[in-house]
Amino acid sequence: MSSYVEDFINGVRVRNGCEPEFLQAVREVAESLALLFDAHPEYRKARALERLVEPERVIMFRVPWVDEEGAVQVNRGFRIEFSSALGPYKGGLRFHPSVDLGVLKFLAFEQVFKNSLTTLPIGGGKGGSDFNPKGKSDNEVMRFCQSFMTELCRHIGPDTDVPAGDIGVGAREIGFLFGQYKRIRNEFTGVLTGKALGWGGSVLRTEATGYGAVYFAREMLGTRDESLAGKVCVVSGSGNVAQYTAERLLGMEGRVVTLSDSGGFIHDPDGLDREKLEWVKELKNERRGRISEYAEKFKSATFTAVESGAKTNLLWSVKADCALPCATQNELNGEDAKALIKNGVQLVCEGANMPTTPEGVEALLEAKVLYGPGKAANAGGVAVSQLEMAQNSMRLSWPREEVDARLQHIMKCIHRTCAETATEFGAADNYVHGANIAGFRKVADAMIDQGVV
Ligand code: NDP
Repeated sequence: MSSYVEDFINGVRVRNGCEPEFLQAVREVAESLALLFDAHPEYRKARALERLVEPERVIMFRVPWVDEEGAVQVNRGFRIEFSSALGPYKGGLRFHPSVDLGVLKFLAFEQVFKNSLTTLPIGGGKGGSDFNPKGKSDNEVMRFCQSFMTELCRHIGPDTDVPAGDIGVGAREIGFLFGQYKRIRNEFTGVLTGKALGWGGSVLRTEATGYGAVYFAREMLGTRDESLAGKVCVVSGSGNVAQYTAERLLGMEGRVVTLSDSGGFIHDPDGLDREKLEWVKELKNERRGRISEYAEKFKSATFTAVESGAKTNLLWSVKADCALPCATQNELNGEDAKALIKNGVQLVCEGANMPTTPEGVEALLEAKVLYGPGKAANAGGVAVSQLEMAQNSMRLSWPREEVDARLQHIMKCIHRTCAETATEFGAADNYVHGANIAGFRKVADAMIDQGVV
């Protein structure tokens, strides 16, 4: 690594020492950019990366609400408006007890690169709260969302900052958040994406992240004249991204044999089919149940519980051709990657954000596994969010075929950009370098054009 990049990373560490996930994300990008800075010192001179690792704005606020027992509860709310070089801030809201400033800064930083790769005019942001929707009644979730939006609504708007969903924020939460924004601002605008179809949502937004990840996987396999048909796929998670990743894999004749949640994973050697998947959707989206129930319902499957303090995630020891992590950050480490490689995995394509640790990424790249980083592979969600914004601005809605065709085209373009950029910088097949350099270059060029702001 060049001494410039080493010094840069040390500087970021000193200023953000308590934010390990953010440091991890910055380090990965900076290591890729060493290749760019050697060939183009103008980016160093403009201190584009130094500027880019400081969010334009961090908003942190109190979210008080009253639970079913009448007790007052207090959570923390955040919105990180990271970069508006390419357009209004855009990125999801996460409601999960693990949310803190460092987690959201990592997600917002990644989002800047992801949004740049989509080629669409959107900047990057992320937000959320340490509120845990699990086990809460609909009324409690509504009261929390209303309190959260009462503050957030001062900072967002259809031309300023357009949040969407993420972990713990689905159609129910987006509805409550939108309702409160509309009530306070007296505006019916495209201020949030992921809305229900009846009042401004786009077809395919719900499916977009998972479908997009599968389209990206198809492109990667295509470079080796392979397809998803007949491939055994291990998928983690069982939320929005995992469900629609599984659905699209089935549509391409892939065999999905695992799903998980924070309690453990199920292994169904017979594979999921459409009926089983519909049952999972009902379990997770309506009854808000646990994935362990799958093994009680379908006798072909086994459930393995997560052991506290476990050093590996046993889901990745299931023999498979393709792995699609779709749950959360750092869920696939170096040991897990070695288990996948030992079993002959050909492709790892990330539906989640940064699910693979740096050691895991290194092992996969060294073994020449096709590795699609989340900031490229899961960009389909934000891409269709932007299509939702475009439809809202035009006051019309496109049919499913049109949105799907646009999504497939965008994922193809992102894949091509990553692959061509990696080759341009002498790192053929390295989608990490390709995504980081291509994503950065577009944002940095815009920053330089717009002056020191
Ligand atoms: P959901 O809340 O719908 O589902 C999350 C899933 O991951 C659940 O199965 C959940 O299990 C599991 N999970 C969450 N945290 C942990 C944890 N610490 N350990 C183990 N399992 C965990 O979220 P999404 O499907 O929307 O998001 C999944 C990933 O995809 C995230 O990384 C998100 O940032 C990323 N992403 C999402 C996009 C979207 O459009 N929704 C867009 C781009 C990326 P449990 O129910 O037990 O908590």
